[in-house]
Amino acid sequence: MDKTLILVVEDDLPVQNLITVTLKAEGYRYLTAQTGQAAVITAATHNPDIILLDLGLPDLDGVEVIRRVRSWSNVPIIVISARSEDPDKIDALDAGADDYLTKPFSVAELLARLRVTLRRLNTAAPDAAPSVFRNGALSIDYAAGCVSLDGEEIRLTPIEYKLLCLLSRNVGKVLTHKYITQNIWGDSLESSTASLRVFMATLRKKLTRSPDSPAYIQTHVGIGYRMVRVEENTE
Ligand code: CA
Repeated sequence: MDKTLILVVEDDLPVQNLITVTLKAEGYRYLTAQTGQAAVITAATHNPDIILLDLGLPDLDGVEVIRRVRSWSNVPIIVISARSEDPDKIDALDAGADDYLTKPFSVAELLARLRVTLRRLNTAAPDAAPSVFRNGALSIDYAAGCVSLDGEEIRLTPIEYKLLCLLSRNVGKVLTHKYITQNIWGDSLESSTASLRVFMATLRKKLTRSPDSPAYIQTHVGIGYRMVRVEENTE
């Protein structure tokens, strides 16, 4: 992809400025919108590669912007919200956002999120889902249903395996508790979220050979989990 185009949707001008100055310095192209309506129109007319979306907009709710954009586009959406807006953040992820940044955020954080997203874009092959997934020392053979670490097979329970597959097929993306439990158990009951925590702990343990093994799965407290590309695990 030649010169990524990023749509910055933010009604708070100092924040918008911080973002656009950073993007410019890093050689990204960008467009801006200050309202939800303008965001939807600009997204439709300019086909940006990534959307950075503030959730608190003067007209439309950011979550509504995501729903509208998602009705025709899979463009990666990174939401920006204040820490007090955690429930909105979860709604945004459930509506199809890919990632989030919490205000105040640093320029380094913003750039790290963009790199992760770009990497997902560049490695995504929607038509030909590979049958073997590799991430660092981890390898999952979806067809054979086996998982190995450093070439050595690891034994997972059926639920752990389903969880790992779900996370790996969405590598780089934050998945909410609701999204995961609905995929694994078909519901989003409190008890499923509690089970999820337990299965995630055992899965993590199995993915950790030694104290310096990379962390493949990040916890987003109160929100969900994400599998990271381990080379990018320095963010
Ligand atoms: Ca705002």
